[in-house]
Amino acid sequence: MSRAWTSIPNTWPTARPEEERPAELPRRLVDRFGREVHNLRISVTDRCNFRCIYCMPERVQFLPREEVLTFEEIVRVVRIVQPLGIRKLRLTGGEPLVRREIEKLVAQLSAIPGIEDLAMTTNGIFLKELAQPLKKAGLTRLNVSLDSLDRETFAQLTRRDALEQVLEGIEAALEAGFVPLKVNVVAMKGITERELLDFARLAREKPLIVRFIEFMPLDGEGIWSMDRVLSREEILRRIDAVYPLEPVDERGAEPAERFRFRDGRGEIGVIASVTHPFCHACDRIRLTAEGKLRTCLFSLKETDLRALLRGGADDETIAETILQAVWNKEPGHAINRPEFVKPERNMFQIGG
Ligand code: SAM
Ligand code: SF4
Repeated sequence: MSRAWTSIPNTWPTARPEEERPAELPRRLVDRFGREVHNLRISVTDRCNFRCIYCMPERVQFLPREEVLTFEEIVRVVRIVQPLGIRKLRLTGGEPLVRREIEKLVAQLSAIPGIEDLAMTTNGIFLKELAQPLKKAGLTRLNVSLDSLDRETFAQLTRRDALEQVLEGIEAALEAGFVPLKVNVVAMKGITERELLDFARLAREKPLIVRFIEFMPLDGEGIWSMDRVLSREEILRRIDAVYPLEPVDERGAEPAERFRFRDGRGEIGVIASVTHPFCHACDRIRLTAEGKLRTCLFSLKETDLRALLRGGADDETIAETILQAVWNKEPGHAINRPEFVKPERNMFQIGG
């Protein structure tokens, strides 16, 4: 087995008391560990037409509409953070495509100078209608979530019988020019093993990069346990045994490790947030649908930007607040350590 397949112990710290940001620092989004933030993930809604078991409970109370940031408020935040170093945006949710006229937000964000990359993560169900308008509005990249190629397993995981529509959505996205398209698969033990080779074949046969995401403790019904995480090790071992893989050496701040098939037919990715945390290279922050700034997926503390946006704060005050929050960005999460505390929010309330 290749060296790249083996575990690296996570020695990166997971907590440190908050500090005041030194006033003399340049106005860039940088934290105490020297990490620069370039990437903002924006949740445009907490609503969703699926109920994936790893993300939300079956019965769920969504935010009242007036609590969700308007397009104008989202655009204002982006205009404030762009000069501080943000150049990449990802729209997510909940399901971003259930937000009405989302293509209008895409058009407004893609027109902001300095935004080099505007991506979206979606369950894909509305892509048949929306892939073309999104492309036209300036969306640069799309990730579609697809956890199973089997209709029954798909329905069991998403609690919706919608595999066919998602597959059509993927075809529509490819036709609209989102090539290569990334497909996200949450890797759950007892479920995903059965289909690892089917997904590998998909990545070999279509212009799709299939990325396996280790199941994280952000589900709505407390089903997560370490035993239910299908690990990076096992994913790679099983696929490599049939379709030999080799690592691709360009990762940077990307959470996915890339592996290509040795015969040159496509690639896969693994996001090993649980077994191989990449916190030391994290360059992202998140804005929730109701305007809370989160500096880590697993943050226990949030900064209320909506209160500032709606309370008459000027851009300078908002910028200072964000600079200070980023300075105290958590060193990392502690998922596989005893001190781990699960955030109160589930994935759909954060924006994955
Ligand atoms: N609704 C869209 C979708 O499903 O693609 C966007 C929002 S969803 C929260 C973003 C990503 O987070 C999806 O790829 C989803 O599979 C992933 N995700 C959700 N819950 C997760 C969990 N507990 N562990 C790992 N990934 C998760
Ligand atoms: Fe909805 Fe995406 Fe969460 Fe599934 S993962 S319930 S599609 S937000």
